[in-house]
Amino acid sequence: MATPPDDRLDQLLELVVELASGDTGARMTPSPAADEIDAVIVGVNMLAEELQALNGDLEARVTERTVQLEQAHLQLERLALYDPLTGLANRTLLGDRISLAMAHADRGAAPPAVLLLDLDGFKAVNDSFGHPVGDLLLVEIGRRLREMVRETDTVARLGGDEFALVVVDAGHEQVLAMAERIRVALQAPVQAGEQSCWVSASIGVCFAVRGQDAATLLRDADTAMYAAKNGARGSVQVYEPRMHATALSRVLLAEDLRVAIADDQLLVHYQPIVDLTTGRTTGVEALVRWEHPERGLLAPAEFVGVAEDTGLVTALDRWVLRTAVAQLAAWRSGFLRGHEFAMHVNVSPIELRTPRFAEGVLDCLAEHGVPPGDLVLEMTESHLMGEDAGTLSALEQLRTAGIAVAIDDFGTGYSSVGYLRRMFLDVVKIDRSLITGLDTDPQQHRVAAAILAIVDAFGLEAVAEGVETAEQAERLRALGCRYGQGYLWGLPLPAEGMTALLVVSAAMNPP
Ligand code: C2E
Ligand code: CA
Ligand code: CA
Repeated sequence: MATPPDDRLDQLLELVVELASGDTGARMTPSPAADEIDAVIVGVNMLAEELQALNGDLEARVTERTVQLEQAHLQLERLALYDPLTGLANRTLLGDRISLAMAHADRGAAPPAVLLLDLDGFKAVNDSFGHPVGDLLLVEIGRRLREMVRETDTVARLGGDEFALVVVDAGHEQVLAMAERIRVALQAPVQAGEQSCWVSASIGVCFAVRGQDAATLLRDADTAMYAAKNGARGSVQVYEPRMHATALSRVLLAEDLRVAIADDQLLVHYQPIVDLTTGRTTGVEALVRWEHPERGLLAPAEFVGVAEDTGLVTALDRWVLRTAVAQLAAWRSGFLRGHEFAMHVNVSPIELRTPRFAEGVLDCLAEHGVPPGDLVLEMTESHLMGEDAGTLSALEQLRTAGIAVAIDDFGTGYSSVGYLRRMFLDVVKIDRSLITGLDTDPQQHRVAAAILAIVDAFGLEAVAEGVETAEQAERLRALGCRYGQGYLWGLPLPAEGMTALLVVSAAMNPP
């Protein structure tokens, strides 16, 4: 009897082909014969099983590796395009987004607007409370900004305390309303760790025009921001072409100033500082002026800012120090011999941090034979706050040598009692803003009284600035303030005028 045709070998061959082509799920059922061929079928099935398991494993590993690669890629992209502190876009991504928005504008969409923000007072926060608090503040500012824009807008941090926004699909009014909302929102105090601090933002707005490139758009927004900064603190300015001219004129002014310092076009005016109990002039403050060849006599407000921005302030301050010390030497060798008298000179914090600053001052004094006790160096409060070792050691060196240090404009920044105790100080100059309402506003009177009591408690001397009325002077004296300075006793005068005044005062009050 003929055996039925056995197609198991054909099926087996098909199975092997299927498995080889990647279908690892293919199987074959063995026959009831359970012969050698079935044994091979069972063996192939087992191998297939093994293969399927291996394949699954491999696939899982490939998936895992792919996810890891994607994450690494994203992280690289984040590093290249985002600010690590705030998670906001960085300058590169901002540039891309502006270019993209400009490309849309070329195809008919409304051109974007760029807002550039710079925080006012951030440096004081950093200097006063340290960088970790500064960082927390920046993170919070970033969060607030992101909250105030739409998904389609971009918020970027350009570095330091500078932020930028690209606003798309919005009319001018909408953009300006947004800028105003941002300005107000950023003024709210920020809780950074244990510190509550606040800053404000100067905002420059530039509306793009078709065909403009990202770089000029950013530059113009920056120019507008600069105008905002120079105007009222914490304001919004829209870019206008004339602003570009102003920025340019600052550059030109810096060039002129460089020449002016070298060519002795600067002058020093002197303003008396008076002992409130005796009425004697016990010193003068040296205040720089610039006899500009075209613009006439310029006040420091018109050029000290430029000098600080360009680093020229160091040369400027040295020039003023040399001139004032030489002047004092001349007075001391004549009618001021033996009199109690001090020369106050302003120094920029930038200068204080330059290496060998204290030696330079002492060399200058030695050269003119002026004792260190005759000099008071005035430094603005916010800048004195720096806790960097350079500043502190320079202050210590000056004081060890016998030079007095005054904190200037006290009451305008983060006037903290802690600083008075910790810093190396001798004199506190109380800002004019705290003196102005002294004779009219009871609240101001109480504030001034409190400050004077604190200054006294730390064993420091107080000089009230901007005293304009006899009533203010009398109240200050009654509150225990020792010295005053202001228009009541005289405007800042050129050296000859001040000499004449001092001759009279010295004759009336012999040492
Ligand atoms: P400051 O150190 O607070 O100087 C006092 C300013 O108040 C002077 O302005 C002075 O003219 C003005 N002033 C004095 N008494 C009165 C008053 O009774 N009423 C009013 N309304 N003002 C009064 P000035 O000379 O324009 O100087 C402005 C600022 O420029 C100074 O403020 C100081 O911060 C800076 N500065 C002046 N000279 C130098 C310098 O040589 N180097 C540096 N780095 N800064 C300087
Ligand atoms: Ca001063
Ligand atoms: Ca002052």
